[in-house]
Amino acid sequence: MKFADLGLSDELLNAVIAKGYDTPTPIQAQAIPSVLMMKDLIAIAQTGTGKTASFVLPMIDILAHGRRRAMMPRSLILEPTRELAAQVAENFEAYGKNHDLKMALLIGGVQMGDQVKALNDGVDVLIATPGRLMDLFERGKILLTGCDLLVIDEADRMLDMGFIPDIETICSKLPTNRQTLLFSATMPPPIKKLADKFLSNPKYIEVARPATTNTNIAQHKVPVASNRVKREVLRHLLKADEVQTAMIFCNRKTTVRELAKSLQRHGFAAGEIHGDMDQSARIAELDRFKDGGINILCCSDVAARGLDVKGVSHVFNFDTPWHPDDYVHRIGRTGRGGATGRAFTLVAPEDQEAIENVEKLTGAKIPVYTVDLGKAEKPERAERKPRAAKEPREAKAPREERAEKPRQDRPKRDGTKPPRAESRGKSRREEEEVDEPGVWNGPVPSFLGVSAL
Ligand code: AMP
Repeated sequence: MKFADLGLSDELLNAVIAKGYDTPTPIQAQAIPSVLMMKDLIAIAQTGTGKTASFVLPMIDILAHGRRRAMMPRSLILEPTRELAAQVAENFEAYGKNHDLKMALLIGGVQMGDQVKALNDGVDVLIATPGRLMDLFERGKILLTGCDLLVIDEADRMLDMGFIPDIETICSKLPTNRQTLLFSATMPPPIKKLADKFLSNPKYIEVARPATTNTNIAQHKVPVASNRVKREVLRHLLKADEVQTAMIFCNRKTTVRELAKSLQRHGFAAGEIHGDMDQSARIAELDRFKDGGINILCCSDVAARGLDVKGVSHVFNFDTPWHPDDYVHRIGRTGRGGATGRAFTLVAPEDQEAIENVEKLTGAKIPVYTVDLGKAEKPERAERKPRAAKEPREAKAPREERAEKPRQDRPKRDGTKPPRAESRGKSRREEEEVDEPGVWNGPVPSFLGVSAL
């Protein structure tokens, strides 16, 4: 099947060709014709399957006809994180370059003034995180009654982050006869309930079994004797496995920071991205990674979720994620767009329970990869006993930012035990993965502000 068979306009086909694509991915082949027919849609698809274009492309053609009105966006795309929202906005810019459509991005960490001005001028597409959208809605700066098309992207992640009540509120403000598209990598019961309540006679598409991992990714688990030797094993793998570009995931922000510094000391071109960095620093670091200034990016889950970086050859799980779904998302950073990739998970005794939960979820045993350190370098003295880093006190965030924090009381959906509370009284998730807001001080890149398509 070719893109030309899907019913898209010639302008859009030209934009797709300019991106270098001629064959639609399975999700695009199945979703695009239904969306163009204005049907509701539930799509079970992981990131890396081309799911973004499966809604962005038909939306552009649908929105090509119609008139913008002040304060009343014509369509709304909800994304769980600012990075994902910015990425969808980039897709709109690329595919919509032959159309006269206006887009606004409503995300935390960016001054509200420009966003409000854009809304007042009228937008065709509003891409938002639920917290900032609710905030502007409550301030009366936005009306959702003209919004005929709603996309809920990464719904399972929205659930993880505690956004479902906000999404229910937002859904109830939109016209009832709107078109709704819901994308999720998995379909836990609360998402099913949301879909039953707010979608009408949806077409159901599943391009991969929920929580299965991409077959282009060779997965390995690497037993390590203790957390103390993880850095040594990692350095060995980075050198031995011809790593071109790698994302290294850690469960704690502190570990991300310390690991990046340690790798730099050992001569690796490593950077870091985690929820304690402000938005401009995160984007700058991501750009350094995309442009090749660094080839190793140490990340936390919240900061890295869904990021689409071309040609990541390796993913390393320095820690096995506590939530098995995160494993699928982490390793999905490699093997994108049909490329092959490798994913290594370091498993110390304290990761054992987590890796078993991952294998339970994906339904497959991950092959063991043994690293024989042999004569490998001894750990640095400083690394044998890492100093207990003190997490900076969290500044109190503005209301809309606080709303972007994951909630701790979300229902458990994978049958795993809830994370043990840390001695400081916070859950591990709260302490390490909360996506702390930053205040945007720098210039707004075109895709982060408001742009005409
Ligand atoms: P997504 O699942 O939307 O995050 O997309 C994953 C990657 O696949 C992105 O880098 C897209 O640019 C790329 N992509 C999307 N559609 C196609 C296509 N039809 N052919 C090849 N690559 C694609």
